[in-house]
Amino acid sequence: MKAPHNPKTGKQKPGGVKEAIYKNVVGLLAFFLIIILINNIFNGDPTTDSKIVPLNQIVQDIQSDKVSKITTSGSVIEVTYVDGIKKESKKEDQSSLTETLANLGVDKAKLTAIPFEVKNESGFAYWLGTLFPFLLPILFFLFIVWFLTRQMRSQNGAMAFGNSRARMMHPEGQKQKITFADVAGAKEAKHELEEVVDFLKNPKKFSDIGARIPKGILLMGAPGTGKTLLARAVAGEANVSFFSISGSEFVELFVGVGASRVRDMFKVARMSAPAIIFIDEIDAVGRVRGVGMGGGNDEREQTLNQILVEMDGFEPAEAVIVMAATNRPDVLDPALLRPGRFDRRVTVELPDRKDRLEILKVHARNKPLEENTRLETVAERTSGFSGADLHNLMNEAAILAAREGNKKISQHDLIRSIEKVMLGPIRQTFVLTAEEKKLTAYHEAGHAIVSTMLKHSDPVHKVSIISRGRALGYMLKLPTVERKTQSKHEFLDDIAVTLGGYAVEKSIFGDISTGPSNDLQVASALARDMVTKYGMSDAIGPIALLPAGGKTMFGNGVDDKNFSEKTAQLIDSEVEKIMKTAYDRALEIINKHRSALDAIVKELVEKETLEQAEYEEIIKREGISLEK
Ligand code: ADP
Ligand code: MG
Ligand code: ZN
Repeated sequence: MKAPHNPKTGKQKPGGVKEAIYKNVVGLLAFFLIIILINNIFNGDPTTDSKIVPLNQIVQDIQSDKVSKITTSGSVIEVTYVDGIKKESKKEDQSSLTETLANLGVDKAKLTAIPFEVKNESGFAYWLGTLFPFLLPILFFLFIVWFLTRQMRSQNGAMAFGNSRARMMHPEGQKQKITFADVAGAKEAKHELEEVVDFLKNPKKFSDIGARIPKGILLMGAPGTGKTLLARAVAGEANVSFFSISGSEFVELFVGVGASRVRDMFKVARMSAPAIIFIDEIDAVGRVRGVGMGGGNDEREQTLNQILVEMDGFEPAEAVIVMAATNRPDVLDPALLRPGRFDRRVTVELPDRKDRLEILKVHARNKPLEENTRLETVAERTSGFSGADLHNLMNEAAILAAREGNKKISQHDLIRSIEKVMLGPIRQTFVLTAEEKKLTAYHEAGHAIVSTMLKHSDPVHKVSIISRGRALGYMLKLPTVERKTQSKHEFLDDIAVTLGGYAVEKSIFGDISTGPSNDLQVASALARDMVTKYGMSDAIGPIALLPAGGKTMFGNGVDDKNFSEKTAQLIDSEVEKIMKTAYDRALEIINKHRSALDAIVKELVEKETLEQAEYEEIIKREGISLEK
């Protein structure tokens, strides 16, 4: 029923590139200006009105007594004339000035009469002066490299790296560095990862004492629980380079390309150690090898092999850590999970109520909330939401507020967003005919009344016949306490509630629409799980007949049933029994409380949505106790 959203924020702003080019042009101009300035410092002061004259001119001037003083500094000769004019000339570097002048035929007597000063060039200036012509091309080259990398980085906040296609990010280069403070909840996962941060910050401390550092860390958890976020936070905390690539990017059509990309990426990462290589959604490449439909995928296998080879090739002291994330750890190749590879596994759980509140607070940081909003209520009503869902919720609330021209987000906006995230947006253009409306109302009221009457079912929170997403209407239950596990009784009641809609349609209309088909699927899957996974059937007993991950199409073969045909028949009959019993219970409740059902439908058709209080009022009016 829930539509998981995964908001991928686009990094590239349309204005960003233009701005970057502009900045670069300014940088370029500044650079050339500096070069020109430096050049001027070493090649004489342009502010004095001295002119460069040939050496024999000076010889003549000395002969005709026009010169009052000569100063040399390196190869530069500064001549001061009697009338105060200064002129400059040059001589060969190594030869002495007196010798040069004598060679050019100046009278010794005239020469001795002129005050003669040899200025030592200061050491630094001298060296710079001589080295500068050589340094210039090198500086220029370095500048070009810097210029190009900067341009690349500013294009999408990341550096496209060689052939590996991995995005390289240095935390410093990121506009918004992500740290553990941005990851709410997930305490255990953060605790585990702190050790990794410690190692990346100070690898020597660990290697000195002979500790073997984990090479690979596998983050496992449902989609949207913050695995990618955690990996980035580790890089941010440790302040190291972060190479990120997603598993599906590895998978290319041409054999061998994937493997060479892996090689590339590991090479670059080693050069910039300490570093983190992050392979997101590794199940795309890391599935069990050698099986799968239509023969193995050669390319994928080679890529996977290359990852394994590279990980084996790490030196123990190399501060490169490979992190990977997956929501399907069950389909991963066992070779990936061997010691020395992804032997450290961190599970990221769906947030509980307290964590949900924390996550909401994180995402409310830069959003103006009205004073009377209570995020606690939102956290309470979003059981089963992932971090990504909560992020999405806050965003939807902000959009709602903005669309209605409000400056702040209200509690009402938040509550409306819960349903939007859970069920998809309201289908505005979707109009039910009067007949459909009535049928839908009976269907949803059926779910509701069964839920109210059964002991182990949660209180009804909302009933609605406003269509959202794919559903024509919906009924929401709300657990009074957070549940980590579910008992057999709860399962049985859940199935009965799910079949409530079907039972109503059949008993009241004597006809079945396509509406409840999803209900049937959900109920059957639940019943089957009870029998095959949780050992909740007496006839079969305490055996798990299917692996926890269930069937997979492309990974671990489809036909790995580890039970006989006879057991298969038994499973079918047990599932059937559960479904039949549940259906009968639902039917019984509906027949017994027909007048209450009609009352709910009447109001529902009129108001389209009944909140908990309105619903409970009708129930009470009908003389039904809500005590369980
Ligand atoms: P995953 O990789 O597990 O599918 P992501 O790390 O991509 O999930 O999470 C998606 C978004 O959900 C994040 O960008 C973040 O905004 C939000 N989010 C998820 N978990 C948390 C959390 N624990 N704290 C804060 N935000 C979270
Ligand atoms: Mg992810
Ligand atoms: Zn239904």
